Amino acid sequence: MPWCERCDRFLNPNTVTAEGTCPSCGRPVDASEVRAVGTVPPPETASDDDEPRAPWHFWVMVVGVVLYLGWRLVELVMWAVRNWL
Ligand SMILES: [Zn+2]
Repeated sequence: MPWCERCDRFLNPNTVTAEGTCPSCGRPVDASEVRAVGTVPPPETASDDDEPRAPWHFWVMVVGVVLYLGWRLVELVMWAVRNWL
C-alpha cells in the first residue's frame, strides 16, 4: 500500500496519481507498490492486448467466403443471361 506521511494514511493504489503523488496533498508517496500494480499487467492479459489483429485462419475463412460468394454471383449472372436473353 502507498503511504503518505503528510496525510498520515494509506492510499488506494488506484487513487495515486500517475506521477506517484498523493491526490490529497500532492506530495510524492512510496510508489513501489503503485509501480508494481500499475505498470506490470498479468502476462496473459498483456499478450491479448498486444495482438488485436485477427488470426491467420480468420483471413483464410474470409477469402473462402469471398471466393464462394463471387462464384455464386457469376452463377446468378449466367443463369439470368440464359433465361432472360
Ligand atoms: Zn497526502
